[in-house]
Amino acid sequence: MKIIRTIAEMKEISQKYRRSSETVGFVPTMGYLHEGHLTLMKRAREENSIVVASIFVNPLQFGPNEDFDAYPRDFKRDESLAESAQIDYLFYPDVEDMYPDEMTVQINVKNRADVLCGRKRIGHFNGVAMVLMKLFSIIQPNNVYFGLKDAQQVAVVDGMIRDFNLPVQLRTVETVREEDGLAKSSRNVYLTEKERKEAPALYQSLIAAKEKIISGERNPQVIISAVKDFLQKNTNGKVEYVEIYSFPDMKQLDCLEGKFIMALAVQYSKARLIDNLIIEL
Ligand code: AMP
Repeated sequence: MKIIRTIAEMKEISQKYRRSSETVGFVPTMGYLHEGHLTLMKRAREENSIVVASIFVNPLQFGPNEDFDAYPRDFKRDESLAESAQIDYLFYPDVEDMYPDEMTVQINVKNRADVLCGRKRIGHFNGVAMVLMKLFSIIQPNNVYFGLKDAQQVAVVDGMIRDFNLPVQLRTVETVREEDGLAKSSRNVYLTEKERKEAPALYQSLIAAKEKIISGERNPQVIISAVKDFLQKNTNGKVEYVEIYSFPDMKQLDCLEGKFIMALAVQYSKARLIDNLIIEL
């Protein structure tokens, strides 16, 4: 595995592969790698001759009161984990290289970003879209890998690929969980011991809701109330939202049908956790 520190070097490598018959798989991350990230990398490894992963904590996707400075970082640890996933290149650029000057163009994500996390995290998906457009253009991948843990991100990337006719294929990977059901996340390290014990309630509330839906409940409001109720009884974290939308277009539903997402966010003392289930009836 080769570590690439500059855009110039990464572009040189990408151009070489673009002219060859290799297929390039790309896994963007913000580092502090865990089994979720490694599953994306392993899938990319199986499906491509060349695998590039990036580690870049993107300042544009953090709001002024969010955890950009406190976001966990440990490059040495990430380097050995990425190596174990047998990727070819680890792209690890500086903020100054990625955003040297004030930008001329902004990306404004219009649809799919005004619900769930996007409603609270104003500008978050604009920042995500901007960094991904840059990374896709630097790396020129054939296939890009994203986790359904961040399902709204998947919906936005899906729309962006279509809107800009980007020559990349979106591949998604199911959420990787701890044994007790908690979705793996770099932010889990910021849970207190007590919060960590309660946090599986997020997934449990979604599973209980799924069972209600399987038994025939079709009213989204009834399901949302049940999930909120479950969370209030089983964790002291502050429920930020519980919402249901069609997936991936994120439209309001009066009756549960087709493919939809049940998603939630809970704020703990130092970590804000999200989880979701996508169901197809
Ligand atoms: P992040 O470093 O949090 O930006 O995540 C980088 C990529 O890993 C995104 O596509 C995430 O959706 C994905 N990811 C993060 N956690 C998980 C997980 N528990 N299971 C599957 N994919 C994940």
